[in-house]
Amino acid sequence: MNLVRLLPLLFLALMACKRPEQTNQSFTAYTGATIIDGNGSNPIRDGVLLISNGRVVAVGTKESVKIPEHATVHDVVGKTIIPGLINAHGHVGDVKGIDGGHYSRENIIDNLSIYARYGITTVVSLGGDKPDAESLRAVKDTVNTQHARLFIAGEIINGKTPEEAMAVADSNHHMGVDIMKIRVDDNLGTSPKMPEEIYRAAIKRAHELGYKMATHMYYLDDAHKLLDAGSDMMAHSVRDLPVDDAFIQLIKQKKASYCPTLTRELSTFVYEDTAEFFSDPFFTREYDTAIIKPLLDPARQQKMRESKSAQTYKKQLPVAKANLKTLCNQGVPIVFGTDSGVPTRFIGYFEHVEMSMMADAGLTPEQILLSATKNPAEYLGLKDVGTLVPGHWADFIVLDADPLSDIKNVRKINAVFIGGHEVKR
Ligand SMILES: [Zn+2]
Repeated sequence: MNLVRLLPLLFLALMACKRPEQTNQSFTAYTGATIIDGNGSNPIRDGVLLISNGRVVAVGTKESVKIPEHATVHDVVGKTIIPGLINAHGHVGDVKGIDGGHYSRENIIDNLSIYARYGITTVVSLGGDKPDAESLRAVKDTVNTQHARLFIAGEIINGKTPEEAMAVADSNHHMGVDIMKIRVDDNLGTSPKMPEEIYRAAIKRAHELGYKMATHMYYLDDAHKLLDAGSDMMAHSVRDLPVDDAFIQLIKQKKASYCPTLTRELSTFVYEDTAEFFSDPFFTREYDTAIIKPLLDPARQQKMRESKSAQTYKKQLPVAKANLKTLCNQGVPIVFGTDSGVPTRFIGYFEHVEMSMMADAGLTPEQILLSATKNPAEYLGLKDVGTLVPGHWADFIVLDADPLSDIKNVRKINAVFIGGHEVKR
């Protein structure tokens, strides 16, 4: 066949590749908003977010992004678009209202739906995950979910011997998980702590199987030892002491991340009185008075006031906040997390309280947003989420106000999208 006869065929082949909009691929464009892509780069003014098949096709200025002719165009001038937020330490399926013990597939979906309505479009459930959760993992998502994407840790690894702990890691692997988790804590001296020999074996096995290990801890000394043993993520704040230089150097050298969960501390003592947020409309839109009624019981409040552990956690919260600020200043990757989805840690709402507490600790809105977008995706290896870049899921929030001037503006949600579809709110 000579070249002249081949040319029309080549042309047709090129057309088939280059003009996908003519092969019934539909596009949606959001135009005119300020776009924060989650990578920590400067916001894009008068931006275009182009989506197709639930994924981002292009993000940029209106000069740089060509909108296909048949695209559906939504004018969102005056709004700010940010990526859907990632909670790198939550729990799903157990809680309904303020009570635990409701684990079911239906309740997992219900929990994930509340997260989504608050703009939390991805949740890493750090433990307590059963086969019902496995079937809902984000890695299996197709296009439209209407609930937050889910990554799971399976059963929290424990055991009386290294062999027992390694067997739990193996069973998590067989069930199908995204990350693994251990707890190294004596709960303020009230329970036995996982011995070093056992957690070293658990971390080693998790790594052999190809998983990162998140570690619950409280004390600086344990945090140091856990990093030395290979922990990839501090799942809470160091709360007993200010972080020292040795810890800072080690966490940086190990390229591990740090998840403050300040609202976990808050939940231990905030119900000693009527919590201020009980009257916040952003709270009551999901949580009505019947749900919070037990927390208004004076006897229950009195018990919390007299609880030694509650008062210790309260006293140590400023240490956790100062450590967060120190580590963030030192360039340690902060990953956003709350430990919500446990009774009295209100799913979805607590994420917004956490952001406010991080701001109180001295973090900038840019640093807080980075902790809930690029950082968890990168440091926990969460695929296709976190940043608005071509190929990633079109999970994003349209805000009525600029979050970079005040992180509380993330509460001014106009709409939440998961896989390009608006979440019903
Ligand atoms: Zn937790």
